[in-house]
Order: sequence, then structure tokens, then C-alpha cells
Amino acid sequence: MRPNACLAVAALALCLPLAAAAQSAITPASPADRADAEAIFKQLIEINTTDTPRGSVTAGTQAMEKRFLDAGFPRQDVHLLGPNPKKMNLVVRYPAAGTPSEKPVLFLCHMDVVEALRSDWHTDPFQFVEKDGYWYGRGTQDMKDSDAGLVASFLRLHREGYKPRRDLILALTADEEGGEYNGASWLVTQHRDLVDAAYVINPDSGGVELDHGRAEVADVEATEKVYADYQVTATNRGGHSSLPRPDNAIYELSDALEKLAHYSFPFELNEVTRTYFGNLEKKETGQTAADIRAILADPPDMQAAARLSAEEPSFNSSFRTTCVATRLAGGHANNALPQTAQANVNCRIFPGHSPEEIRQQLIQLFADPKLTVKYVSDSGVVLNAAPDRKAIVPVKPIPEVMEPLTAITDAIWPGVVVTPIMEDGASDSIYFAQAGYATYGYSAIALERDDERAHGQDERLPMDSYWKSLDFWYAFTKALGDR
Ligand SMILES: [Zn+2]
Repeated sequence: MRPNACLAVAALALCLPLAAAAQSAITPASPADRADAEAIFKQLIEINTTDTPRGSVTAGTQAMEKRFLDAGFPRQDVHLLGPNPKKMNLVVRYPAAGTPSEKPVLFLCHMDVVEALRSDWHTDPFQFVEKDGYWYGRGTQDMKDSDAGLVASFLRLHREGYKPRRDLILALTADEEGGEYNGASWLVTQHRDLVDAAYVINPDSGGVELDHGRAEVADVEATEKVYADYQVTATNRGGHSSLPRPDNAIYELSDALEKLAHYSFPFELNEVTRTYFGNLEKKETGQTAADIRAILADPPDMQAAARLSAEEPSFNSSFRTTCVATRLAGGHANNALPQTAQANVNCRIFPGHSPEEIRQQLIQLFADPKLTVKYVSDSGVVLNAAPDRKAIVPVKPIPEVMEPLTAITDAIWPGVVVTPIMEDGASDSIYFAQAGYATYGYSAIALERDDERAHGQDERLPMDSYWKSLDFWYAFTKALGDR
């Protein structure tokens, strides 16, 4: 038993005989399996699935549909469907042999990528380029690596005649990064029967963090914050700038933003962040460790929380809802009093609160009836009120998922500490969480801390990380399918 791996999940009462469980868990991909998985990855990278005139998610999902049908998956288990011809989702069901032992497991993967311009990159972002042990291309980190890894694993299991005890479902979906036809949301609301599952695995977050090649921690996203944009506007009748008055749209907006700059939303913990900080406390030393102990105490020590927040922005964002000004516009001429001044305020909302609740809190904080605070929807529409739906407050990660995940991760990256976290970003998991499904974010991709290039220039993946993730997905799908 590896003491540190046991320690990491101790709070979840998941100490395992890891060495024994892990040894039998890994059957490395053969050279032929690898060649197949590389071909799938290359094909996906070279299909442009951006939400732009030249991109098409359907081109990607159709290519994968063909692979499943060619491999002998029955037509009735392979569904290509969507609300728009360019945004078709693919749902593949690998059925249980006989009566299913449990509800299915859903693997949820988005197929779209963020736009990338050839002029910004050193290689063509839509060519799969191998260089110095890396593959370059848009989507190599986010998330065609995992799309390809799961497609390859489903096909390998099928080739080998594997018979799961429950259904395994793979959904490749549209418009996670942007666009109007979010496939995860559409499937869970319009075709629940196709994606209904005991729980959801979403490889769009989490993963293994490397420090100079050494695997340190493996994060499993067990909950996430809700993303929301607000448009804050000050309006004024304006006038000639030679005759200034105290009322002024720019000053009024500045006053509001000044208040926001000095405001902190209330401190909160939930099951996931409590476990996370519990694990972290054992690794940290000195004042940091003492402060973490103090925030976990009842009642939590607010001075310790303030010190931790000042020390590390990610601590602060784990404790509370955060809102920050991200864009600014105002005025219309150098010699005129401004008639409008406007800012975008971006918030990451702690689970359990709704975007409308936060909008009301911003209105109270600004306390200026001359200002309006409106909600900006994902598609950019400005609305007078924000949605009432809250992200589900997380439950403790379940052993059925965490045990094999931890054992297989430990077998591939020995000594790594597996820990459930709350993600500050946002993914498609939110739609399933809101529909009542437990979701776990884990990419099984190992990256150096300073080499995260998702959405950025020259996105790339170490080839070794891809091979390891392939072994992970094969073992993990099988472990969940065997239950
Ligand atoms: Zn993504």
C-alpha cells in the first residue's frame, strides 16, 4: 500500500490495497492498438470543429460514427442526432451482455474546439504535427485527446469481444466552447433516454499534474462553479465637457467597480473543498498548514481565510463566489460628458447559489439606483434577470468511481495523490449536475504545470501522455463495465 495515495483519499474512507488492485488493472495497448488510437486522434485534430463558418462538429461525429459502424457496432446502438445540421452529436451505446447489473455509465466528451488562426501558430492548428515528442494541433489538450482515447478504448474492447455487465455510453457533443447548440444540454433535456446513467464521467477537467516529469497530483473534479457575466451600465444625459456636473456616468460606474474591488463574497466550504483542504493540510507546513486547519475548524477562522486568500488566488476562488471586472467601455467624444459607461463583471458562482441571487447581491453592493445590472447569457444576449438555477451542491465522490480511478491512476503514475476538487471553470458537467446526475471530471492526461495550452497558441500534447491515457481509459471503462 502506498501511504501517500491512501492519505489522499483517507477522508473518503477509500484506503485501498492499491498495489494489488492496480497490477491486474493494466493491460497496455499493443502496437496495433496504438496505431489505431493515433489514427483516430489525427483524424479528429484534422477535422475543424470550431463554431465558425469553416468548422463543423458533424464532420467529426460522422467520422466517428463510421468507425463504430465499420467495427460492427449495430446501427441501433449508434445515434447521430442534433438540433442543427452542423452540430450533430454522436451517442454510442456498448450494451451489457444479458440483463444489466446496474444503470449505465455515461462518458461525456465535447467534440468542438476553440478557433485557432494559422497566423498565430507555428504549425497549422488543423494539422496533426509530431515534433520533439509532442503532437501539435487545436484540440490536442482540449479535448480531442480524450475523445480519441475513449473512441479507441470502446473499439478495442469491442474487438476483443469484451462483454460488460452494464451499458457503457459514449456521447460526443457539440458547442461546449461556444455556439448556440450545446449538445450536452440538448441531449439531457430532449433525449434523456439515450444518456440516462448512474453517473457521468467527463474528461474535460481534472487530470494529472507533472512537475519536471514527476506526477504529483491527480485532480478529480467533483463539482464546479457556475459561470456568469453581468453588464453594469451607468447612463447620463451628458452635455458639454466645459460644463462638468457632479453626476457623471464614468464616475458612477467607477464608484461601483471600486466597491466591487474591495468586496469579498462570504466564505463557504462544501464536501469537496473540505476534503481537498483536509488533504492539502497534510502536505503543507508552517503557517499555511496552520491556516488550513483554522479554516476547517468550527467556526472557521476568517483571518486565516484572509491570509490564505492573499497567498494564493486559487485558495480564494475555492472559498467563495468571485466577481471581477473584465471589460470597460464609456463615453463617445473627448469633449463631451459621457452618456454611458459600461463594464462587464465576470462571476464564478459557488455551488448552491443562482446567477440571479448574485445579480441581486451586486445591485445591493453598488447601492446606486442610477446603475443597471443585467445578465449576459452564454450566447451574448443581455437579459433583465438571470437564471434561477443553482449548481447542485456536491455529494461525496462515490467509491465505485474513486476506487478504480485511484488504483489505475496509481498503477500508471505511481505515487500520485488523487484528490477530488472543485473546478473554478465551467464544463458541460453543469447540465448533467443540474439534471440530478453525479458527475466526475477526470482527463487522465498528464501535463506539466506550465504547459497548459488549452484554447491557446501552439496547443500540444506529450505523446507519452496520450499513450498513458489510452491505457487508463481502457482499464477504467472495463473496471466500471465489470460492476
Ligand atoms: Zn474542453
